[in-house]
Amino acid sequence: MKFAKPLEFLIDELQKLPTIGPKTAQRLALYLLKSPEEEVNKLVKAIVDAKTRVSPCSVCGCLSDIDPCMICRDEKRDKGILCVAEETSDIIAIEKTGFKGQYYVINKDFNLMDNNDLTQLDLKPFEERLKSGEVKEVILALNPDLDGEILGRFLAGVAEKYGVKVTKLAYGLPVGGYIEFADEITLRKAIEGRQEV
Ligand SMILES: [Zn+2]
Repeated sequence: MKFAKPLEFLIDELQKLPTIGPKTAQRLALYLLKSPEEEVNKLVKAIVDAKTRVSPCSVCGCLSDIDPCMICRDEKRDKGILCVAEETSDIIAIEKTGFKGQYYVINKDFNLMDNNDLTQLDLKPFEERLKSGEVKEVILALNPDLDGEILGRFLAGVAEKYGVKVTKLAYGLPVGGYIEFADEITLRKAIEGRQEV
């Protein structure tokens, strides 16, 4: 027996989400059907609200509901240090370490292993920051995987054009581990022990 068409469609859509396999998608869909209608409506509204009201900050790329974001508006932060990360979730992890510089978020929606290339990256806002002369150091806080390695070399090349010092996080993050999941102490040590590229 097959599920009713609308239910099958819901399962298909849920399955498109990262880390959701067919079994989990089925479990979530059935859970939603059993939930009170107002709960389901709340979830739908939360998804639509977040999608319409949150977008990348025009200065740093961090996902925010105001533009520029709170971090870019904060005058007390060190404008001389620019930390480059792949996702807003990485910034949230780095913020917990007490880092007080500025950020640049790539919002990476490609995978270099899938033959996508770096020319898809819009680096204009990044280059604008470097051109301004305010940035003295770029910290590459990229994930320790092959994509992060290639991306890091590419960004370091761009920063060097502007004579900006480039550093990367010290080892200590497990290879293949991700910044957003690193604990605060490991991440703080990786930032403090950063090395020039
Ligand atoms: Zn910002």
